[in-house]
Amino acid sequence: MEYVYGPVPSRRLGKSLGIDPLPSKTCNYQCIYCQLGKTTIFTNKRKNYCPKRDIIKEIDEVLTESEQDFDYLTLVGSGEPTLYKDLGELIRFAQKRTNKPICVITNGSLLSEKNVRDILFDVDLLLPTLDAGNTKTFRLINRPHPEINFDNLIRGFLEFKESFTKQFWIEVMLVRDVNDSKDELLQIKSFLDDIQPDRIDINVPIRPPVEIWVKKPKNTILKLLDEIFGDYKDINFPEMGIFGKFSSDFEKEFLSIIERHPMRQEQIIETFKTSINTESNILETLDILESKNIIQKNIYQGKIFWKLRN
Ligand code: SF4
Repeated sequence: MEYVYGPVPSRRLGKSLGIDPLPSKTCNYQCIYCQLGKTTIFTNKRKNYCPKRDIIKEIDEVLTESEQDFDYLTLVGSGEPTLYKDLGELIRFAQKRTNKPICVITNGSLLSEKNVRDILFDVDLLLPTLDAGNTKTFRLINRPHPEINFDNLIRGFLEFKESFTKQFWIEVMLVRDVNDSKDELLQIKSFLDDIQPDRIDINVPIRPPVEIWVKKPKNTILKLLDEIFGDYKDINFPEMGIFGKFSSDFEKEFLSIIERHPMRQEQIIETFKTSINTESNILETLDILESKNIIQKNIYQGKIFWKLRN
C-alpha cells in the first residue's frame, strides 16, 4: 500500500487507519517541533499531489479486504492534508465504504477558505492545531507559508466552528520558552474561548522534533495549565499498542509507517517480530537501512526513535 497505512495506535483516536494523499513532506507550515523532519515541499497551493484514482483504489481495496478493525479512518500523513485539492472526493468515497467515523488532522490554516470548510463539514471529527495567540509566536513556532496570516487563521477557525455540528478538538503543542509562558497561554486561551472547541488537547513534543533545540515545557507548567485551561486533556504520554500492516514484508511495511509516523525501537520490534523475522534480524535491517541513508536514528528523552531521513 502506498497511501493507506496502519492502523496506528493513536493517543487520541485509539486505532487509526491512515490515508496519506501527499508526498513526504508537503506542508504550508514548517513547525519547529515537526516529527516528520523538514518541509521539503513548502507550498500553499492546493492540488492533487498524488493520483486520485490510485488513492481511491487503495481505499477501496483496504476497506473491502480488512475486517475494519480500527476506530477512525483518518486523513493525515506526510504533511497538511487539506492541500490535496480533491480531499472531499476521498472523504466521500471512504464514507461509502465504511461506517467508521472519518477524521481529518489538520493545521487548520486553510479553514479560512470556504471551499476547504465545505469539504471538512463532511467529517465526523476535525483535529486542528492552534499553538499561538499572536502573530509573532505563530511565525516563530509554525513558520507558515507567507500567504498565511494569523488573523485569517483565527477567522477560519471561528467561521468553521460556527457551522460545524460534529466534534472539533483543538490541539495546542507547547514548547519550552516559545509558547509556554503565562502570557502566551492566556492569549491562546482567549482565542479558544471565542472558538469554543469541543475539547482542548494539550500536547508536548514526545517524538524527536525537527529542531534539536526544541524542548518540552518544565513540569511546573502543569499548575499553570490547570489555572488557565481548567478543563483540558493532557496527551503527554506515549501511544501504546502495535501497528497494523498489510503484508509480511518488514522493510516495506516499516518504511511506509515511518514515512508518516516515527517509531520507537521497542514498537518496531513489538510490531514486526515473528519467529522468522527475529529481533536480531530487525535490528540488523535497521542498521543496513541507516547505512544506506534511508532512515535515521534519534535518541530522544532516553528512547531510540527511527524515522525516514530527509
Ligand atoms: S507538524 Fe504538521 S503542520 Fe507542522 S510542519 Fe509538520 S506536518 Fe506541517
